[in-house]
Amino acid sequence: MGLAIAHRLAVQGEAVRVLSRRRSEAAGFVAAGMLAPHAEGLGGPLLQLGQRSLERVPAWVAAIEADSGMGCGLRPCGIVVPFRSEAERDAYPTARFGQVLDRAGLEREIPGLGRGWPAGLLFAQDGQIDNRRRLMRALERACVERGVQFEEGCEVQALEQDATGQLSGVRLQDAEGATRRLPAQRAVLCCGAWSARLLPQLPIAPVKGQMLSLQGPRQALQRVIFGPGTYLVPREDGLLVVGATSEPQAGFEEGLTPAGQRQLQEGLAELLPEAARWPPMERWWGFRPHTPDEGPLLGAGPVAGLWLAAGHHRNGVLLASITAELLGAALGPAGATAEQRQLLHQFRWDRFAALSAGPSSRTPPPAPATP
Ligand SMILES: Cc1cc2nc3c(=O)[nH]c(=O)nc-3n(C[C@H](O)[C@H](O)[C@H](O)COP(=O)(O)OP(=O)(O)OC[C@H]3O[C@@H](n4cnc5c(N)ncnc54)[C@H](O)[C@@H]3O)c2cc1C
Repeated sequence: MGLAIAHRLAVQGEAVRVLSRRRSEAAGFVAAGMLAPHAEGLGGPLLQLGQRSLERVPAWVAAIEADSGMGCGLRPCGIVVPFRSEAERDAYPTARFGQVLDRAGLEREIPGLGRGWPAGLLFAQDGQIDNRRRLMRALERACVERGVQFEEGCEVQALEQDATGQLSGVRLQDAEGATRRLPAQRAVLCCGAWSARLLPQLPIAPVKGQMLSLQGPRQALQRVIFGPGTYLVPREDGLLVVGATSEPQAGFEEGLTPAGQRQLQEGLAELLPEAARWPPMERWWGFRPHTPDEGPLLGAGPVAGLWLAAGHHRNGVLLASITAELLGAALGPAGATAEQRQLLHQFRWDRFAALSAGPSSRTPPPAPATP
């Protein structure tokens, strides 16, 4: 989010500085890179946000590729969701957006699919991007080309406000361990799963995910397979990314676990038995920024001058393009369009307080006329 928003603001002519504690811990490097609002079975406003973002991805990627001179590995390859029964398939929340597959159709789409999957849905509109090896690097390069300043190894430790409550600066520790104050009247907080450490009122908690990859033959698998609990994402060169565990109880506990890695191997064997023989490449883990409704917190935050782009949970790669657009509009001189204002309103950070206040407040208030 930090890179996507920095790039957008720089394109809009702003001077941007990115303060980053550790780039390698970002979930942006960890993710499988699925662009999957339909395969994930999203619903309500989150589905709408995901669909809007998916529409924008090709132009967003083209702009990053043009600025960076690097490819992002976008692959509009479609995603197949296999099911244990036709009834399960037909009850899937996004079934109406997919193409119905029987066993013969599944075998056509996924040669070598494990037994035990008699039904499926093909979401040809969903896809993937090679976030770990390509998109994140291209985004960094695009930011540098657009004049964004980076301070890597720099942890923001506290936000500072003036007497009126307006953001006045941040206290930070730099890569050499020195602490100092940086004045700032405007900032966007995009600290992923760690966001509530700076603003404890944000309802964001980590959900750990473990991953692994294998090297398959090129073209062995054309589509992403999104199984229950395990998914397989084939990159252009045959690398197969296998994800992911979902471990809310792990908190910020680092590292791989035998149980987590076993779960991935078992899921892999059920979905694509032949892939269990492919050579292993990498294993890694990271933290999804979870919110109570699994949607992000976007727009104005609880401190004047502080904007939010956090809590994207399982869909932050998908949602990066719309997030950058919305924050760019909210912070930019032109202001937001009616659609952008509606989306910002639906994902405002304090929507949960309104929901828990009782049945009479369940209808959200109308969207404000100005951003
Ligand atoms: C296993 C796994 C699989 C996933 N698969 C997908 C997928 O297929 N498709 C999809 O769309 N999404 C996926 N996601 C979700 C996606 O990765 C996240 O939603 C997204 O990366 C969140 O972006 P972010 O910028 O908010 O957080 P991050 O990418 O985690 O970045 C946060 C950054 O903030 C920095 N930071 C934190 N605190 C501070 C501080 N105090 N000072 C300075 N810097 C700080 C961190 O060092 C980090 O670099 C997956 C996530 C995981 C973990």
